[in-house]
This record gives sequence, C-alpha cells and structure tokens, in this order.
Amino acid sequence: MSDNNSCDFDILTYGAAALRCKSRPVEQVTAEIRELVDKMLKTMYAHRGLGLAAEQVGRDECLCIIDVPPDADDSTPPELLEKNAAIAMPLVLLNPRIVADDGVQTGQEGCLSFPEIFVQVKRAMTVTVEYMDLDGQICRIEAAGLLSRALQHEIDHLNGVLLVDRMSPVQKVALAGRLKRLKARKS
Ligand SMILES: [Zn+2]
Repeated sequence: MSDNNSCDFDILTYGAAALRCKSRPVEQVTAEIRELVDKMLKTMYAHRGLGLAAEQVGRDECLCIIDVPPDADDSTPPELLEKNAAIAMPLVLLNPRIVADDGVQTGQEGCLSFPEIFVQVKRAMTVTVEYMDLDGQICRIEAAGLLSRALQHEIDHLNGVLLVDRMSPVQKVALAGRLKRLKARKS
C-alpha cells in the first residue's frame, strides 16, 4: 500500500508476509530505535490507532507502542480501571511479555492491519507485562480492561499472531469474503 502521504510509514495489511514473522529482541536502545519509535507514534496517531507493533510497519524489532486514553474505556469495572491510572501514555514497550493474567473480558477489537473489520474477541481482563522502556530499564505494569486488551493484541503481533487467529470459526466464516478481498489486495 502506498496510498497515504500524511505519515511516515505505510501500515502493512493482512496478507503481508512480514505480519507472520516472529520479532527479534531489542538488545539496547539506540538512536535508530528512538527514531523508529517516533515514526511509529506519528503513524499510529495519523491512523487514530490505539496501538501499533513494529511488524505492522515492516520492521522486525520486538517493539510496540500503545496509547489508550483513560476515558476511552467505559466497559471496565471502575475498581479495575484504577490499575491503569498510574500508567503514563503513550506506552513504548521493548521486548514485552505477559508474565501473569487474570479474568476474562469479551469486547470489540479492531486492528490497523484489518481496516474496517471489528470483531468480538475474548481476552484476559487483567495482564501483568514486563518490558524494557526507552531508558533501558526493565519495567512491570498491571493493566485492566481496554488497556489490557491492547497489550495482548500488540504482543500477539510481535509473535506473528493476528486478529484473524483470535476469531471464532463462525466469525471467520462470516468475514470470509472481506478477509479474502483484503488478502488479495496484497498480491
Ligand atoms: Zn493490530
């Protein structure tokens, strides 16, 4: 795709081989990594996304960014949402991994690599994620609700796992035509 000039990266869509690769751990925070993060942030905001993984812009670094505004989440119990209050946005996560999860939530999920497709996806209600920040520090956060969903979604990307893999067989059948057309756009 090369149909936009408003941001630094084009976003790969379903069917692009790079989306299926497993990412490579980031050893240290270099100027190149900082530049990549800056360009990814611009790209994510230009597309009004809540998150973006490096794989979606054709890079193999184990790196994702997330910006979930606190007031964007109206479906999570308030006592759980309090967990998110201390987490500053945007979040830049290098080598993130889920070290614990709890509970279940089902909610609507979309992906910039699956334009205009939204499906109900079951995820853990809370997750604890360990990652390296841009200062090279190892951090640990516990997030709930929509932020937890975004973390699980972006970490999936870094493992080559996509929204389509989280769909039920019934959802896949219902969306088969649209998924096929999306994939065909790539060839
Ligand atoms: Zn996505």
